[in-house]
Amino acid sequence: MRFDIATLFPEMCETVVNSSIIGRGIKAGKLEVHCHQIRDYTTDKHRRTDLRLHGGGMGMLMTCQPIHDCWKAVSEQIGQKPYVIYLSPQGKVLTQAHARELKEKENLFLLCGHYEGVDQRVLDEIVDEELSIGDYVLTGGELPALVLADTVARLVPGVLSSEECFTEESHFSGLLEYPQYSRPRVWNGREVPEVLLSGHHFNIKKWRRQKSLERTFFKRPELLENAELSKDDLEYIARLKAENDK
Ligand code: SAM
Repeated sequence: MRFDIATLFPEMCETVVNSSIIGRGIKAGKLEVHCHQIRDYTTDKHRRTDLRLHGGGMGMLMTCQPIHDCWKAVSEQIGQKPYVIYLSPQGKVLTQAHARELKEKENLFLLCGHYEGVDQRVLDEIVDEELSIGDYVLTGGELPALVLADTVARLVPGVLSSEECFTEESHFSGLLEYPQYSRPRVWNGREVPEVLLSGHHFNIKKWRRQKSLERTFFKRPELLENAELSKDDLEYIARLKAENDK
């Protein structure tokens, strides 16, 4: 899978993408991440990429031409139009379920705004979707683009050591993950739950599922509305509700 990040601060993105798991995915040939300096595409003799707003108002707006030329150059390089996401506080908030859909795309072009944002005309021309990382405003789209790239990249087959690394995790099936423990068996007087030391796989699986349900029920009950739940799960939740209402 290939990511192209269009930004005024490519060095900020490069440091992150070349580290940790995305970096390993790149080295293993599972991912390609290219960070493009939008300023390199400006035809303005002062290399400007942002201008004052028409109609007045504070701040500067990123202009159409360099962004469009950057997108055009990437499209020519890959031989097709990439799927374009503009990171924006006005977009739908990114979810794990949506990240799973995006991992099916061959190419994602991530457009990072800055200042007041981006001239609407180039957004209308090239953007397939606007995505936000939450209902707050950051100074630029670089951190959101990296959040998105990281979330999607780790789902690409071969980037993590096994699919289990993410299928069991919070949000994958709509639930929060169960509590986890490692060595030592007792730390500061706190013990690892007995069932996890039993070697009894069925009981461990059942305990983990119930803990997932419990955590979701108490921490993020609204997630249960869209989670994939079995008959046993629903019965367990009904018991939790009854106990909680006592
Ligand atoms: N004037 C814009 C508005 O009110 O919608 C906000 C511009 S913001 C200061 C600058 C850039 O940061 C945006 O163009 C966008 O790329 C990025 N950005 C800020 N908050 C974001 C968020 N929550 N999610 C995704 N991108 C965000």
